[in-house]
Amino acid sequence: MEQTSIAALSTPPGRGGLAVIRISGPQAESILRSLFIPVKRDATGFDERKMMFGKLIHQGKLLDECMAVLFRAPRSYTREDVAEIHVHASEQVINSVLHAVFSLGAIPAAPGEFTRRAFENGRLDLSQAEAVMQLIAASGQQAADAALRQLQGGALRFVQAAQAQLISLMAGVTSAIDYPEEIDEAEAVGNIAPQLRALAGELERQGNLQTARILEEGLQVVICGKPNVGKSSLLNALLHEERAIVTDIPGTTRDAVTGSTQIGGIRVNLKDTAGIRQSGETVEQLGIKRALDAVKSADLRLFVLDRSCLPDAEDEQVLHAITGLPSVLVINKSDLPDHPGFAHWIDSHRDKLPENTIHLSASTGEGLDSLRQAIHAQAGQPEHSALTLARHIRLASQAAGSLRNAAQAMEEGLPLDICAVDLNYALASLGRITGDNYSEELLDEVFSAFCVGK
Ligand code: GDP
Repeated sequence: MEQTSIAALSTPPGRGGLAVIRISGPQAESILRSLFIPVKRDATGFDERKMMFGKLIHQGKLLDECMAVLFRAPRSYTREDVAEIHVHASEQVINSVLHAVFSLGAIPAAPGEFTRRAFENGRLDLSQAEAVMQLIAASGQQAADAALRQLQGGALRFVQAAQAQLISLMAGVTSAIDYPEEIDEAEAVGNIAPQLRALAGELERQGNLQTARILEEGLQVVICGKPNVGKSSLLNALLHEERAIVTDIPGTTRDAVTGSTQIGGIRVNLKDTAGIRQSGETVEQLGIKRALDAVKSADLRLFVLDRSCLPDAEDEQVLHAITGLPSVLVINKSDLPDHPGFAHWIDSHRDKLPENTIHLSASTGEGLDSLRQAIHAQAGQPEHSALTLARHIRLASQAAGSLRNAAQAMEEGLPLDICAVDLNYALASLGRITGDNYSEELLDEVFSAFCVGK
């Protein structure tokens, strides 16, 4: 089938300095030639891979003065002929240029279709195509770095090495099946099964779903404590801005106040909850229910105590809600003298309190850096993982599961050709990461999450 030519606006819509309209496919050059008159024309015609300045004219009407560049296949993003037209980012100009491009035979690109063509034409593997999307969506510096490592083939190399190792182990199994009189099966199993388990362990170590989610969405941190301990002040101090309203009337911050910042390159989404305490007021009860839900679902809880007061039943209620969940004890107001009974209260509740304790002052900022470090430590270390996308980590863990099943079946003495079925499953799961064996459904799933123009 003759490949269609697709076109779309590749920059965000709206007014701005520049907008780039991209065309890919066999008609890219002819469409560009019909619309674009370069100021400098030489005998060789359109320059390839060079910015040209000129005029865009359609049906005798000037659409814009612009720059244009032509990439001939296969030296382009999609490996097809590609033309990019850089116009002024005016809604009118963009619409009239797109209209002209479509009237000359291009069709509107589907979400992610440029990158999908780059994959289908072998310019990128699937993990690299997804890295483009991960980079565009990166919410923190670490997410961007992880996407760039993947774009450079980080996940691809890891998966290819795992595949090569698996294929060689599968060859061992096949030989034992094919030459039973020459190969001692028990010996082969004794040799291969531990290697399958080791490979499974390696696949699982190279990606952590929680770390991947934190990279993608940010670390969810809830600040909890009874009214007036300084939660809003702490939120503001961490955000470096006056977002929450700080007052000394208990219960003023009824609903959650949220804000987001970066700590060590990780996006951190902070939520200051309403006090978790018994209340007759319906509005406040609703707030309490929401606060409890937020406390349970967060990645990390900051349990704030005010050291200038003796903690009471209200603090214990909050402590009860966080016990057993990853939390940091924040002892606030270090600029004030502590209450004479405070240290004793801490000692007598040590077994229930979070181990990690930070003394700080939300007012003066003293101790905030230690808190930032403690928050960052909770995010895990994505820089040590080859796999940082949830889809890849799930597939690697499926592959690991199949490898363990095969190892167990071998050790239990099941026929080797049955074990080989699990090994094939493992290989197929790995192949789905890089797109070795892809289906239209898999591609639709991956590329539908892109935006148009990518
Ligand atoms: P929340 O109800 O827990 O959100 O508490 P707020 O942040 O509204 O603070 C309650 C009161 O404590 C305010 O008057 C703050 O100025 C004060 N406060 C908060 N943190 C500190 C601190 O570190 N030192 C001192 N001295 N006062 C603080």
